[in-house]
Amino acid sequence: MTAFVIVGAGLHGSALARELALRGARVTIVERGVPGAEASTAAAGMLVPAVESWIHHAANLPRDIGGRSLALYPEWVDAIGRESGLPVALHLEGAVVARGDTGPDPAAALSAEQLSDLEPGVRYAGGAWLSTGEGWLDPRELVPAVTVSARAAGATFRSGEVTAVREGAVELRSSDGVDVLEGTVIACAGAWTARVPGLAALPVKPIRGQVLALRPTGAAPKRVVFGARCYLVPREDGRVIVGSTMEDVGFTRGVTVDAIEGLHDAAASVFPALADAARLEAWSGFRPGSPDGLPLMGRWRGVWVSSGHHRNGVLLAPWSAQAMASAILDDHALPAGLSPARFDALG
Ligand SMILES: Cc1cc2nc3c(=O)[nH]c(=O)nc-3n(C[C@H](O)[C@H](O)[C@H](O)COP(=O)(O)OP(=O)(O)OC[C@H]3O[C@@H](n4cnc5c(N)ncnc54)[C@H](O)[C@@H]3O)c2cc1C
Repeated sequence: MTAFVIVGAGLHGSALARELALRGARVTIVERGVPGAEASTAAAGMLVPAVESWIHHAANLPRDIGGRSLALYPEWVDAIGRESGLPVALHLEGAVVARGDTGPDPAAALSAEQLSDLEPGVRYAGGAWLSTGEGWLDPRELVPAVTVSARAAGATFRSGEVTAVREGAVELRSSDGVDVLEGTVIACAGAWTARVPGLAALPVKPIRGQVLALRPTGAAPKRVVFGARCYLVPREDGRVIVGSTMEDVGFTRGVTVDAIEGLHDAAASVFPALADAARLEAWSGFRPGSPDGLPLMGRWRGVWVSSGHHRNGVLLAPWSAQAMASAILDDHALPAGLSPARFDALG
């Protein structure tokens, strides 16, 4: 049986470990911190490929793979809930975009009255639209469930830092000392991918995002709402997640007063009742950014890579895990536009 060593137990590492193990592979996954505790649980949890493509002027490939991944979601979270015993609620009541434009599809445009029927608390800014079938989940539910289901499928988790990578093996440093783990290497190290020794030529870099959680005193949005300067994501317990900054500040952790004030202000400008909401919690995380905003997925210089999922890594998790497992085990082609080698000329 082929052995695999995955570097990084974020959502992507664990989802791929689960997929490979379910297909009969022997998988060890190495994490230096707490599995899932980085970008994957910092995420707001939006699953909104059409909205993201429209707002960020994305071309066909991200819309296509985002749509395919969203379509996999209901069955995927169902299976993960069963395997882990940790149910994951999926909310696909649509996303409202209230930024003053009427979106890509005239049939989806909302009048002020229609907007007020759907989302009574949202301010009409002269144009709005509804993206049906899209929505959100809570990554704090999803990520631990994926970790547990990867274990249940047979993946072995090892604690420690990968300090060297070569074709067929990694060096693992932990409190027990140094160990060499043999197997086909798969780098799923998120924003730290280019810091993994041997992978420095991959142009993945951290893009910090700050997030604020509010407790409204009255009404809250019922679905994902995009305003001009922020997005709002509901939670089942009534909190509202407000996101997010996009900051090129290296690996500087933490939140800033200016950003949190700015997010609260932006939230109140799209949903005025949130002006009075209590600030419960703020945090930040590092998106794995790439020069073209697309993931890096494929074989590169003797190792496999699945990284660079940037703003949409939660959305892309089921599709990425399945596409990577099929590429690795069955030699299925991955989209050529995602090959890590597309950046070789840069380095
Ligand atoms: C504020 C914010 C909001 C977001 N909102 C959304 C959203 O609404 N929807 C969406 O789809 N996406 C969203 N994202 C993006 C999404 O969170 C990421 O794309 C995704 O979580 C990346 O997952 P990952 O597994 O690649 O990385 P991570 O979760 O960061 O995991 C990488 C892991 O690798 C480990 N690691 C790194 N180097 C080593 C090493 N040498 N040895 C051992 N372990 C190592 C790290 O410790 C880490 O645990 C958001 C991100 C942020 C920061």
